[in-house]
Amino acid sequence: MLSDRAAFGCTRKRAGNLVLLLFSGVSCAPDAQLRVSRYRTVAVPWDFGALGSLCRWLLAVGAYNALMANGLTYTRTSVSPDATKQLAATLAPLLRAGDVILLSGDLGAGKTQFVQGVAAKLGVTGAVTSPTFNIMMAYEKASLPLYHFDLYRLESPDELEDIGYFEILDGPGASFVEWGDKFPDELPYEYLEVDITVNEDETRTFRMHAYGDRPRRLLFLWAKDSRSRLRKDYS
Ligand code: ADP
Ligand code: MG
Repeated sequence: MLSDRAAFGCTRKRAGNLVLLLFSGVSCAPDAQLRVSRYRTVAVPWDFGALGSLCRWLLAVGAYNALMANGLTYTRTSVSPDATKQLAATLAPLLRAGDVILLSGDLGAGKTQFVQGVAAKLGVTGAVTSPTFNIMMAYEKASLPLYHFDLYRLESPDELEDIGYFEILDGPGASFVEWGDKFPDELPYEYLEVDITVNEDETRTFRMHAYGDRPRRLLFLWAKDSRSRLRKDYS
């Protein structure tokens, strides 16, 4: 589910990739063979020397971006609230100002537990409770300011302005938003989605999906120790 703004970001990026591909296509060596996979090469038409090389390099970057834009999903299973907090604690040190993590999943899925795990790792000492009634809780004395939203009780997207939602998302800390997908048109340009499903045996499945360059890098770093769990999502 993409908002207009997020969709615009993707479209602009795809258009950029297309320009790169076209530009590269007309700038490569005559009869040159461009290796596109281990077993396949394609002939490319013209040569502009160093410019051709640069364009071939840009082509590779464009192709890489296009592939990455298809999205990767990182999946983990948690067997207990503690395991959820431990998983969250592995994300905390990688966070930077401006990172937005959208948490989706039914009531009781474990969204708040996840934020508690992040908060503990960032050095928040007091209780971290669900901001269902306050809508937003700020923990600015943490090693990175942490903002915890719960949009469940909001009735209209106009209320987001009233609570300073957009300024905070762009602000000096990392923001975690429960029910952040409630207003699809108000999704931020870039975010990491953490979707939690409750399984029949009460374990939780966490599916992480990145939208945008920074969230994608964050996802790569987070999943680095378990690359086998980082895979294309064909669902
Ligand atoms: P949400 O914020 O998604 O509405 P909470 O995090 O407030 O949900 O609550 C999750 C509830 O589920 C807690 O009571 C917690 O003890 C329980 N729970 C059971 N197993 C897990 C698990 N693997 N991960 C997270 N919470 C779990
Ligand atoms: Mg909650």
